[in-house]
Amino acid sequence: MCKMRFMEANSHMPVNDQSLNTRISARLLDNALSLCASAVALLARRGERYSFQSAEELKPAVVSVATALEVIVKAKIADSGWRQVFLYSSKVTEEEALAGSAKTIGLPAGVKKLKALFGIELPAQSITVIERLSNIRNKIVHYHLSIDEKQCAILIAEGISEFVDLYKNYIFESFYEEKDRTSDIGKELKNVSEYITVRGNILKMRIELLDKPVTYHFSECPECLQGLFVLDQDIAHCLLCENRIPIKEVAEAHCENNGAPIPCGQCENGWMALHDKVNDLDCWQCVSCGHYINKPQIWITDFKPDVYSVDSVRPEYRKPESH
Ligand SMILES: [Zn+2]
Ligand SMILES: [Zn+2]
Repeated sequence: MCKMRFMEANSHMPVNDQSLNTRISARLLDNALSLCASAVALLARRGERYSFQSAEELKPAVVSVATALEVIVKAKIADSGWRQVFLYSSKVTEEEALAGSAKTIGLPAGVKKLKALFGIELPAQSITVIERLSNIRNKIVHYHLSIDEKQCAILIAEGISEFVDLYKNYIFESFYEEKDRTSDIGKELKNVSEYITVRGNILKMRIELLDKPVTYHFSECPECLQGLFVLDQDIAHCLLCENRIPIKEVAEAHCENNGAPIPCGQCENGWMALHDKVNDLDCWQCVSCGHYINKPQIWITDFKPDVYSVDSVRPEYRKPESH
């Protein structure tokens, strides 16, 4: 955590109370992140070759991720007032709060407080995931739960995906985190099919509304093999594994005869690769938006990686007038 958070916080709140808020919420956040990390590590083993995990082996990860979700919600709440996370809040002393000996609120109360204190209204789908995990955790811990290993892995994947969103949306910027502490999760789980499916389905819906490269050059991330790139200025950013690829580098790699790419006149941060020559005229195409200058002679519609003269815009993004 960055010092700025202390400075900013101290400027408009009574010093002692605010520094206690920050201390308690920072501790809760660290705990939430390490609980989530242990669930990630256990789930990641599924991605290893020849590995098999039984439901019994996976159950501790369900418990970890369910607890991580509850604790990250409390970390956010404590930042606005440490007493807010405790039951019988007016009776809790600072010593009890710091020692962790006072009872804290449950998850439903936490979700309500997110709305009351910050106006955060979690999507219905998120609340369903959080509540389901919380119930299942209680069954695993106190009773018995018969569940198969696949269902277990899906539950853990849903919980981790939800945790990543809570962190990115409500913690990362407002806590002045120096770096995104969830940014390695996608890479660690890139071989776990349950996570790729769960997270991939959420991100597929999300990228529809975002600026993204529309060509075949970005249809598969070299790290995680998914096509979930969005544009972050002149970088293509994979939302699943957080791989970042400069658009210019891709244009350079596709420039024929080692030609240098030129900026695209159609989109803001795109680069055009030299594609072909027709009657001595250079044909260029932007590797990000697909805009072209001079139509090449061979303009085939099925993508062939070894053929340069190809309209690289993916069919679902083609405009009728560009043909
Ligand atoms: Zn990726
Ligand atoms: Zn362009």
